[in-house]
Amino acid sequence: MKQRPIVVMTAMKAEMNFLLEKLENAKCEKVNQYGFYKGTMGDYPVVLCHCNVMSLNAAVATYIAIQKYQPIAILSQGTAGGYGKDIQKSDMVLGQKCLSITSYKTLYQKEGEGSQSLAWELVNFSEGEPDKIVYQYADEHLLALAQEVDDGGTKIHLGILGSGDCWNKETDRILWLHQEYGILCEDMESIAVYKVANDFGVPVLGIRVISNNEILGESYDRNIGLKSQKFTYELILKIKEKPWQ
Ligand code: SAH
Repeated sequence: MKQRPIVVMTAMKAEMNFLLEKLENAKCEKVNQYGFYKGTMGDYPVVLCHCNVMSLNAAVATYIAIQKYQPIAILSQGTAGGYGKDIQKSDMVLGQKCLSITSYKTLYQKEGEGSQSLAWELVNFSEGEPDKIVYQYADEHLLALAQEVDDGGTKIHLGILGSGDCWNKETDRILWLHQEYGILCEDMESIAVYKVANDFGVPVLGIRVISNNEILGESYDRNIGLKSQKFTYELILKIKEKPWQ
């Protein structure tokens, strides 16, 4: 039987160069603006998807990837902004869970009363339970294998990825999201990849390297993405060694 591939979702080309170099017999199959690079890594079938920045792009590309390649698993990798004072640039976060940070309800404010971003509550808006927080979940086997990867001394945090189409730079709001919801970092694609993968029953895991931390005054560095690519590559080799039972 033909082996089902591992799909790796990445927002920006600059964040997937290392993985592209590692892909053998690569063939590009484009669907609109979404690039799908099909090949092998250590004889295992892998599809690298350049999904473009932002959750809507990531959702469409993840759906296409599932329909087109029937992946055995989806890894979502890239950079993120750190939320805690102990989550520094070049640390990594493995997303046990993922939470949308752009699904929120504001307080009612009259004209002239301004905006109270520290009181914007994260909600889900789902029918029947509109005020519930809904998490998307990583696959436990992938999470366990990821913890076996030799990280070369990198600090790895395990927990909640925050995700949505925004770039928060207000320290108090970032700290509030961290304290109130336990979010460790923010990016713009994970929520879409997790949601689509969860909906279609495909095991998923988000791997993020911290490229900036506004609280600590650490500015954005896109080249730091190399670290999450190396980690993702090692994880792919582990999946090959220890598939799902
Ligand atoms: N085009 C810009 C930045 C792209 S947007 C540039 O190259 O300079 C940021 C990308 O990095 C998104 O894919 C997002 O997932 C990730 N990212 C890194 N830090 C982030 C943060 N603090 N907030 C939101 N997204 C972040």
